[in-house]
Amino acid sequence: MRTIGVLGGMSAESTAVYYRELNRLVRERLGGLHSAELLIRSVDFAPIAELQTQDRWDETGALLAEAARRLEAAGAELVILAANTMHLNADAIEAAISVPFLHIVDATAAALKARGAARPLLLATRFTMEKPFYAERLTAAGLAPLVPDAPDRARLQSIIYDELCQGVIAPESKARVLEMVARGVAAGADSVIFGCTEIGLLLAPEDIDAPVVDTALVHCEAAVAAALG
Ligand code: GLU
Repeated sequence: MRTIGVLGGMSAESTAVYYRELNRLVRERLGGLHSAELLIRSVDFAPIAELQTQDRWDETGALLAEAARRLEAAGAELVILAANTMHLNADAIEAAISVPFLHIVDATAAALKARGAARPLLLATRFTMEKPFYAERLTAAGLAPLVPDAPDRARLQSIIYDELCQGVIAPESKARVLEMVARGVAAGADSVIFGCTEIGLLLAPEDIDAPVVDTALVHCEAAVAAALG
C-alpha cells in the first residue's frame, strides 16, 4: 500500500471526512484491522482564506507547494488536496513534487460520467463557481456544468465559510441549498456536484432526486484505488 499525503485543513471539518473515508475505504478493500497509510499536513485555514478574498493566489500557491513538498519529503507516495477551491493552485502544487497529484476534478468527472450525467449543477465556493479553472476542466472532460445565479452563489459562499467550515450545520441552510438545487434542475441540470468538500456535511445524496457526486468521497475513492494499485 502506498502512503497517501493529504494537504488538508481547508477546512479542518472536511479533512476529518477525508481521514474517516480513506481509512474506511482501505478497511473495506483489505478487511480486518487494515487502515490507510497516511500523512496529513493540516494548515491553519484563516490566513489562506484571507489571501483568497484578496485574490492573492500566487501566495496561496507558494504555501501549498511548500506543504506538498514537505509531504513528499516525509514519505508521501501520492498527494491529494482535500479542497476544491485550492485546486486553483493545482499547477503550482504539481510542479513542486515528483509523486502523482490526484486532481479532484478528474475523480469528479469520471464519477459523473459513470452515472450518465452531462449537465451537472456545480455547488461550490464562489471562487470555484466563478473562476474558470474548475469549469474548464469539467468541460475538457466532456461535461457542460451549470452554476447557480449570482444571489444563490453569494448565499452558498456564506453558508460554506460562515457555517460549514466552522462546524455549524443549520437546517435552514440545508433548505436554502435544496431550493438552489431545484432551481438548477429547472434550468436544465441533470445532476449535482457537491463541489465543496464541506457540502456533504449539510446534504446527503438521498436529499436530491438526481445523480449526485460528492467530490470529497470520490476523491478519497480515487486515492485509495491509486494507493492499493
Ligand atoms: N473545502 C472547500 C472546497 O472544497 C472550501 C474551502 C476552501 O476554500 O478551500 O472548496
